[in-house]
Amino acid sequence: MTDRWVIHLPITAPDLHRARIFARTAARVLARLSARVEPGGVTVSAEDQQNVRHWVFCDRLLPGGSRCALPVDHTSPCSRCAPWLNRR
Ligand SMILES: [Zn+2]
Repeated sequence: MTDRWVIHLPITAPDLHRARIFARTAARVLARLSARVEPGGVTVSAEDQQNVRHWVFCDRLLPGGSRCALPVDHTSPCSRCAPWLNRR
């Protein structure tokens, strides 16, 4: 048996757009609590079509080996960091 387990945490939303927003928010909050979150693997699906997954983050490979942290449908250039996360 593997030493890794995956958490499936159903959170409902009224449409794909808001499901992606909720999923991104949940992933970012959980990532701040633990380094074990893999945002690039986050997907959402319709409740009655859970085998049809929609990506939440872009996750394109960037120079240097990091991944794009922006939403899957972003129009700006790919970035390792979402700019709104770095405000302090
Ligand atoms: Zn990107």
